[in-house]
Amino acid sequence: MAKYLFVTGGVVSSLGKGITAASIGQLMISRGLNIRMQKMDPYLNVDPGTMSPYQHGEVYVTDDGAETDLDLGHYERFTGQPTSQKSNYTAGRIYWDVLRKERRGDYLGGTIQMIPHITDALKEAIRSIDEAGVDIIICEIGGTVGDIEGLTFLEAIRQIGLEEGPDNVMYIHLTYVPYIKAAGEVKTKPTQQSVAKLREIGILPHALICRSEVALTDDVRRKLSLFCNVPLHAVIEERDVEHSIYEVPLVLSEQGLDDLIMVHFRLARPPAKLNKWRKMVSDIVHPKGTVRIGVVGKYSELQDAYKSIFEAIEHGGMAHKYSVEIIKIAAEDVEDGKRIDEVLSVDGILVPGGFGERGIEGKIKAAQIARENRIPYLGICLGMQCAVIEFARNVCGLKGADSSERDKDTPHPVICLMEEQETVIDLGGTMRLGAWPCKLKKGTRAAEAYKTGDISERHRHRYEVNNSYREQMEAKGLVFSGLSPDGHLVEMIEIIDHPWYVASQFHPELKSQPINPHPLFKDFIGAAIARTAVKQS
Ligand code: GLN
Repeated sequence: MAKYLFVTGGVVSSLGKGITAASIGQLMISRGLNIRMQKMDPYLNVDPGTMSPYQHGEVYVTDDGAETDLDLGHYERFTGQPTSQKSNYTAGRIYWDVLRKERRGDYLGGTIQMIPHITDALKEAIRSIDEAGVDIIICEIGGTVGDIEGLTFLEAIRQIGLEEGPDNVMYIHLTYVPYIKAAGEVKTKPTQQSVAKLREIGILPHALICRSEVALTDDVRRKLSLFCNVPLHAVIEERDVEHSIYEVPLVLSEQGLDDLIMVHFRLARPPAKLNKWRKMVSDIVHPKGTVRIGVVGKYSELQDAYKSIFEAIEHGGMAHKYSVEIIKIAAEDVEDGKRIDEVLSVDGILVPGGFGERGIEGKIKAAQIARENRIPYLGICLGMQCAVIEFARNVCGLKGADSSERDKDTPHPVICLMEEQETVIDLGGTMRLGAWPCKLKKGTRAAEAYKTGDISERHRHRYEVNNSYREQMEAKGLVFSGLSPDGHLVEMIEIIDHPWYVASQFHPELKSQPINPHPLFKDFIGAAIARTAVKQS
């Protein structure tokens, strides 16, 4: 039977609860434990798949095709453990299930209530990841303690505490200890109040992880300990890290957080094996050089919209012990001809995925600049579709070539809907989602990167390369380097007569890890580094 470790958040949002939970996951793995991670989100959307990147950042996709919260990306990157449909539940999904049962008559005429029906469904969802051989389930509760919509979630995890017994459940509360400049002091009151809120519900946190911009003095720690009813050694400081989020597990371990968890759960395990992790962080801190990568996207101002892409680019740099300066360029600026010099100045251009019309011409232009100026290019999903449109228009001379997503009346729909998608009405969960197998063509950059001919990568899109244009484009030098096993779907393209021009219909960024950088990102950054060397000589 697994132990349950719940991570709640207090005071404000955006404290990095996902990174903290993922760091705890890494620490448990480095102590030889088998873990599963889960995020419970109290909002009403059934999943984040239909939410705007402005509201919710990137949608992270699992192998089994769940459209989930971006924190699952942190979980996978920090722990290497794949997540699944069971790793992310929202209140909407839980209510939906309960209401469906009610309509079916499963409750035999009973009155359906928040407690026990919703809380029971929540407990069942949390327990659904308790498989044989799992030692610890780390479950992060989204939102902030005090949110009305989170109440049933907290009630459910309180009940699990009672049902599983005190040795089997641990509550860790992530909080914010602000530094008030005018007073020259850090303040513990917000934390006291948020812990008081938890205690009102019946949850007594066993440890506090305190996000803070300054070091916590002994006095402040004592105050937090006494007023929040947490032992002094369980008041852990999590200051802003200097270089990389991957430092967080080390910071937490240095303060004994993993020991504390072992003692709480009465687990006797050897000390954390963090050598590989430490070496990885030390490489980040002491890079051999820097390479500049331009990301031409629709949401250039949003850090979270391309979370996994930015991380994967960093990992690609880490594979060569390089740091990466990411230049965020709004596709619309490129479209207006504003930031062309900047696009020309970078060592590599990445065009990420996206939906809708805004910025597409800028992305197509970026693909053209990369092709014509021999700048390494990595196109992802829409970034591949834009590369195909650009090639069709400017190399094959197909005037007005486009994706039918944007222009239904284009004379050359080089990107189009496959029959299966033509009849889709609901927007939620109906794209080509999750892991699909792909066969790579021998002798291509794709095969060289992966070092194998058979791969599996995750998808999230509706549109595909139109097979009726394949021959024409191939004749002009576009290589279809990755295809679905039946040869029907184009999964990767590349241009051979170019230093490195590769694009994929899938999202390789979702499977990149700092310890195991994704081969496409590794080779893309490698090509960008080679370009800096040529520029310097
Ligand atoms: N909008 C495109 C499609 O649906 C690309 C999607 C994406 O980039 N994730 O096919």
